[in-house]
Amino acid sequence: MNNMIVVCSECSEEHDTSEVKFLNIEEDMEGRDIMYFTCPVTNLDTKSLVYGNTEDSDGQPDEAQEWHDFDPDC
Ligand SMILES: [Zn+2]
Repeated sequence: MNNMIVVCSECSEEHDTSEVKFLNIEEDMEGRDIMYFTCPVTNLDTKSLVYGNTEDSDGQPDEAQEWHDFDPDC
């Protein structure tokens, strides 16, 4: 349902969370999800904030779930 992505610091690409090897997940001090995973390009372990989870943005249409749809004016 909710397609979530990570922005990989290893290859600088975005990966769907279903396409990487999941290692672990934790929250940072602001309650954001940080996922640990193995990059499918470099095969190195890394971590990233998880984007696309609309838990905090109720009422948003489905097409607004992508991480780059946020207004940059804040
Ligand atoms: Zn990667």
